[in-house]
Amino acid sequence: MHLIDPGSAGEHVQRAATLLQSALGTVPVAAGRASGRVNLIGEHTDYNRGLCLPLALRHATYAVVAPRGDHLVRAVSTLAPGTYAGDPATATGWAAYAAGVVWALREEGFDIPGIDMAIASSVPVGAGLSSSAALSCAVAMAVAALVGPIDPDVLLRATIRAENERAGAPTGGMDQTVGLLATPGEALLLDFADGSRTPVTWAPPELALLVIDTCASHELSDGQYAARRADCEAAAKALGVGSLRDVDEIDLQSAHGPWLPLARHVVTENTRVEEFVQAVATGEWAEAGALMTSSHESLRDDFAVSCEQLDVAVETALEHGALGARMTGGGFGGSAIALLPRDRLGEAADAVLAAYDRRHWRKPRFLLT
Ligand code: ADP
Ligand code: MG
Repeated sequence: MHLIDPGSAGEHVQRAATLLQSALGTVPVAAGRASGRVNLIGEHTDYNRGLCLPLALRHATYAVVAPRGDHLVRAVSTLAPGTYAGDPATATGWAAYAAGVVWALREEGFDIPGIDMAIASSVPVGAGLSSSAALSCAVAMAVAALVGPIDPDVLLRATIRAENERAGAPTGGMDQTVGLLATPGEALLLDFADGSRTPVTWAPPELALLVIDTCASHELSDGQYAARRADCEAAAKALGVGSLRDVDEIDLQSAHGPWLPLARHVVTENTRVEEFVQAVATGEWAEAGALMTSSHESLRDDFAVSCEQLDVAVETALEHGALGARMTGGGFGGSAIALLPRDRLGEAADAVLAAYDRRHWRKPRFLLT
């Protein structure tokens, strides 16, 4: 089984610094780092004031920066061709996530100079592992290192605004919270109703979490994600509440509307997050795994954001020893995770490879948390 290597911070910062110098002729003066993530459980809940439990990866994005004498941003990435140069207020494409942070910090009232930046990363892009937020957060950390301390909540707001308002992806804040605040290997229970962040010890004995990047295309800003978010807001309105967090399963028994399956997913998912945290705390790993699998079924059947590649990855992992498995991230492609006995990791990965090969799908990739 070939695993995507997270590499070392020194190696990635060096790659970014070399690129900054060769492409833009600029010597970096500050750097920032932000982790990608898998979400253990709690999907499509963040923008519904709900609960989720993301785990920071060792795979991360690194930004190196230097100030400019004007107000422009120039940006290069080892993973994108060409150079972006312009006013960050009008950045598009991948630069919206990077230069957009400079725009957002200025909107928040900070006097940010023009910036040259270069990016290097070990987070697979577009795999549902939050490369977009890792990019924005790495830039935010580097800019903060450059101009002096900026309150973490301001950085959080700025990175969310870059993704929502400049890149046009209406994501809910889970990814940016991890990128800015979690250390690799740390799981955080996030409650988007009260804003609390609680570290959760994640160290399943004899088990490992295999991440399967299905390599099936996923594009959060293509409208599906936004449509789900709008439908959830419509459901809350129809139910007469501020958000789906204020609804329980009993309220839904007498409810009617095309949004009912969506609301059911969000409501049951919040409960699953609470039960999962409890199962992890008491070492009930079979129960934790079962909750992951129920989360997948709810996302597939009620929230309708899975796809064949994700379903086959989950089913195959379950047939080969996984205690539980689910899609992770927004869906429509991207990655699945499987909680496996360590000694069956290779067997499960080989079975997924074979299942994809039989269907003539793109070859999936793997990494470990
Ligand atoms: P995910 O966050 O799950 O990886 P998204 O669709 O949210 O997927 O974000 C992927 C987009 O983020 C890419 O299309 C690209 O625009 C941008 N991106 C992420 N990482 C990088 C990087 N290292 N260099 C350039 N662009 C990146
Ligand atoms: Mg993303």
